[in-house]
Amino acid sequence: MTCFPSRIDDTPRVSFEFFPPNSPGMAETLWRTVERLAPLGPDFVSVTYGAGGSTRARTHALVERLRSDTALVPAAHLTCVGASRDEIDAIARRYRDVGVGHFVALRGDAANGGSFASDPEGYDGSVALIAGLRRIADFEISATAYPEPHPDSRGDAADIDHLKRKIDAGATRLITQYFFDNDHYLLFRDRLADEGITVPLVPGILPVTNFARVVSFSAACGASVPDWLARRFEDLDDDPDTRKLVAAATAAEQCQELAAEGVGEFHFYTLNRADLVFAICHMLGLRPRPEAP
Ligand code: FAD
Repeated sequence: MTCFPSRIDDTPRVSFEFFPPNSPGMAETLWRTVERLAPLGPDFVSVTYGAGGSTRARTHALVERLRSDTALVPAAHLTCVGASRDEIDAIARRYRDVGVGHFVALRGDAANGGSFASDPEGYDGSVALIAGLRRIADFEISATAYPEPHPDSRGDAADIDHLKRKIDAGATRLITQYFFDNDHYLLFRDRLADEGITVPLVPGILPVTNFARVVSFSAACGASVPDWLARRFEDLDDDPDTRKLVAAATAAEQCQELAAEGVGEFHFYTLNRADLVFAICHMLGLRPRPEAP
């Protein structure tokens, strides 16, 4: 594996999330994005798993191709929805056998958007999934964390216990749901530190390209959208160029504030687009290296 020393001094570490494309045009966009972002030397790139396991084959194909055709380290998202333990274990072994060693292990949601119900033969949630993966191999396992309560939260104390169980089961990194108000992250980080949780809490950063879509998605996943953010995107529905500039400036500002608070690692929800994320990383001090994949 080639190593890409793309950081200077205290520039942060980054990782990028992609989703599996479902058309030749989207695949082209994705690979252009990969080519553009790879030289920034991410620690890993992760590939989502469609709701209800709907992209199982495409996720696998993309992870495997990233592994074989690039020098990037891919991480496969995996949920426990709609599959038995045997099926999930078989997926994990297939990844292991082609040299994929990192999972983002998730409970997931029902395919129809309803509440989660485990398969009768399946893992009953993220903790059981993480433990199951650990039994198969010494995978690196990232799990989720929610600075603002997840819609299924049973309260603050239960959330913390749940996180501790994920870590005890084998998670070594927490990647957060996106948030726009850094206080949510910072207070949450303090809370975890008070509870003795020491694994990295990597902020998930979502550059906002389509404000209306972010509002409706946020309502479903429990992330709040502050008024100041709405004001920034006011009257820009028909002005994509300005929207992009505002989006890049907003996310770069968010990351810089977090960096000033000691955050040294960021996970970007790229939506398979390179331009905003590249610009934000540039603002954070990352530079492409010629020896990149
Ligand atoms: P968990 O963290 O296990 O549970 C969600 C919340 O429910 C917890 O915060 C806790 O409040 C509560 N909870 C659950 N079980 C218990 C329990 N036993 N005791 C107490 N409280 C409990 N979805 C996809 O379909 N595919 C993806 O690829 C994908 N990638 C994601 C990546 C990231 C970084 C994030 C943040 C989310 C992603 N999601 C993905 C969305 C995710 O599947 C949903 O948010 C889902 O509803 C929760 O899955 P989870 O593993 O985060 O659940």
